[in-house]
Amino acid sequence: MKTPRLPIAIQQAVMRSLREKLAQANLKLGRSYPEPKLVYQQRGTSAGTAWLEPYEIRLNPVLMMENQQAFIDEVVPHELAHLLVWKHFGRVAPHGKEWKWMMESVLGVPARRTHQFELDSVRRNTFPYRCACQQHQLTVRRHNRVVRGEATYRCVKCGEALTAE
Ligand SMILES: [Zn+2]
Ligand SMILES: [Zn+2]
Repeated sequence: MKTPRLPIAIQQAVMRSLREKLAQANLKLGRSYPEPKLVYQQRGTSAGTAWLEPYEIRLNPVLMMENQQAFIDEVVPHELAHLLVWKHFGRVAPHGKEWKWMMESVLGVPARRTHQFELDSVRRNTFPYRCACQQHQLTVRRHNRVVRGEATYRCVKCGEALTAE
């Protein structure tokens, strides 16, 4: 599997938000729950998933590149809350009242079941790009090649490299 190169600064920002949220939770809960492992192996249409037994959070690197702030503000706390609920309450409904409480009262993040951008990204089959003179629509295949750093596309009219909007 090809993983897009994730800039180290983004990985660090995500790690920082995980640690901050975990510290905040441990303080409020009076516990010292361990830091989950972060892996960038989530594929397909999910932004992220929480794995209880290996105690890890899998993040989707393609979606993360497109939605960096949403990952920091929403996706990481969402998945962390699943792990903390499991540690704190055991096995309960995934998005039940315990998870809602963990999100809102402990982590201070609005409890939404799905990440806002997920559907947009899943449903659309072209991605808007821009050059100096016009907007372009790139197919998913081409877009992914750009994200992975495998290709650059140029506008035939102005010759400028296309950049994601
Ligand atoms: Zn969830
Ligand atoms: Zn152009």
